[in-house]
Amino acid sequence: MNAKLEMTPNEYDAERVWRDFPILRREVHGRPLVYLDSAASSQRPASVIAAVDRYETFHHANVHRGVHQLSQEATDLFERARARVRGYVNAGSTREVVFTRGTTESINLVAQSYARPRLQPGDEILLTALEHHANIVPWQLVAAQTGAVVKAAPMDRRGVVSVTDVAAHINERTKIVACAHVSNALGTVLPVREIAQVAHDRGAVLLVDGAQAVPHQRVDVAALDCDFYAFSSHKMYGPTGIGVLVGRERLLEEMPPWQGGGDMILTVSFEKTTFNTLPYKFEAGTPNISGAVGLAAAIDYIESLGLQKIHAHEQRLLESATRQLAAVPGLDLIGTAPDKAAVISFTIDGIHPHDLGTILDAEGVAIRTGHHCAMPVMEFFGVPATARASFACYTRESDIDALVHALAKAREVFG
Ligand code: PMP
Repeated sequence: MNAKLEMTPNEYDAERVWRDFPILRREVHGRPLVYLDSAASSQRPASVIAAVDRYETFHHANVHRGVHQLSQEATDLFERARARVRGYVNAGSTREVVFTRGTTESINLVAQSYARPRLQPGDEILLTALEHHANIVPWQLVAAQTGAVVKAAPMDRRGVVSVTDVAAHINERTKIVACAHVSNALGTVLPVREIAQVAHDRGAVLLVDGAQAVPHQRVDVAALDCDFYAFSSHKMYGPTGIGVLVGRERLLEEMPPWQGGGDMILTVSFEKTTFNTLPYKFEAGTPNISGAVGLAAAIDYIESLGLQKIHAHEQRLLESATRQLAAVPGLDLIGTAPDKAAVISFTIDGIHPHDLGTILDAEGVAIRTGHHCAMPVMEFFGVPATARASFACYTRESDIDALVHALAKAREVFG
């Protein structure tokens, strides 16, 4: 056992946390479930399920519209959720917190509402080599619409993107830099604060895809000094179908609405429509009210455990899993950045990742296999796919033992 593990023996009770998540008690294929696919979607604790249930049972009505009691209760819960999100990421005000369907929609919103009206032919959008498709394709779409060009700053063989490389790819034509805070395929944590600085020095704005960061580490959008920050509730123990775009108020004010409809207007006539104030200008139609309530409960849950404690726990697991997996014969780790979040991608000689995933599933071990919506990353490492184990607050050391055991079985099968 290393020194770091010895330092914090009883601070974090992963067994107790595990018990907060009812789904983890179930079996698959007659085996206890070992859920190691939290980077794709995390599970929900009982408190989140109960909060959504309470809302649906007692408070549901449409928001922002009715004078009746239920509508006011629903509105109050929805707006309290917005305030909870604001505090969680330290946004300047609730006007800067836009509810969306998730990270994907948040990035598309910025591409269409911020970028599209501004980009001229030849302007550049700078991404990095490790982006999720959600932070590539919306930019390609807006590039096709405007004549702008999409570029990507490189990474090294460990999966590290350096500020120097990002800076070297920014020039006077670069209008937008968009990068992940944490890579879903490799686990790399990017130096977002420094990237914001080099982007701003050249007059570009920075969008950060925070889908894989918000559940694992403290995110302070003010300290990061990014212009837009996007994330999804379902990766942070909340419901699916809801996410957030945090944007600088000055920029959001300048941006035209993206979708039109109810709730985003002040007045409508056939001649002219005036738009609602922030953030409602970007929230056309009935929002995902129960999703927002669930997201707020998820934030309450995370904060009840303490993000720093979750982070330390996951880092211990990462260290231990990395050590154990590195000892598996024929196993190659894909993504070995010094600063990583709780994701381990790997391949095993002679076993296709999909076959590996199937064998592990039969053992009750759920990992992700495939390109992880990051095909350029797979191409860079010269692999069609990887297997990926990802950890969360409820992952236990015994889950990693189960993974290692199942990998040994897979090697026997393919012996
Ligand atoms: N970016 C990253 C880094 C992700 O991991 C994901 C989800 N896999 C997304 C964006 C897209 O998130 P969503 O599907 O919730 O919109």
